[in-house]
Amino acid sequence: MNPHGFPSRMTVGKMLEIITGKAAAVGGQFVDSTGYKRELTQKILEEHGFNYIGEDIMYTGMEGYSCWGMVYYQKLKHMVGDKIHARSTGPVVNLTRQPTEGRNRQGGLRIGEMERDCLIAYGASQLIHERLVTSSDNFVVDICGKCGVMGMPNWYSFFVTARCQNCRDGSEMARVQMPYAFKLLCQEMTAMNIVPKFILKDVV
Ligand SMILES: [Zn+2]
Repeated sequence: MNPHGFPSRMTVGKMLEIITGKAAAVGGQFVDSTGYKRELTQKILEEHGFNYIGEDIMYTGMEGYSCWGMVYYQKLKHMVGDKIHARSTGPVVNLTRQPTEGRNRQGGLRIGEMERDCLIAYGASQLIHERLVTSSDNFVVDICGKCGVMGMPNWYSFFVTARCQNCRDGSEMARVQMPYAFKLLCQEMTAMNIVPKFILKDVV
């Protein structure tokens, strides 16, 4: 048992169980460890030639006193094999088209807010875009530069491309890349009579 475990876990009882266990083993007898029997434990250890507080000389090339004994041990149920998880591409959620969550659904490993903050601080804007859009729910919409709402190419006529179904002009339609979840948000707001409008600018 690593001595650094005692202050945080506050399991002094484990130390006493180690000493009691040692006495029980060398004495070949049962010792009740539900309460520390100091006199009994020390007596047994001394009778069998061991140090009465459980410290005996150990040799490694040097010699030194070391407290040792045996104690029961409970197996940790958290196993690496049950937790190991990785994903490149995989299933997405139908509504948002973002990667699923959780190991049992082959979920993606999230770039959280704190990780995002690190990337912002580093100035790695292309990497943020890749993680949050390209590798997540990248989507391309046609936006009307005249009225600023999302349109549908070839809506007016199959042969007339990029028509706007709102202002019916469609001479300034532009393809814009955005997360699918954002496009969904805009449409949900539109359904509640709040119409977000896009103001388009040329980006070099
Ligand atoms: Zn329009």
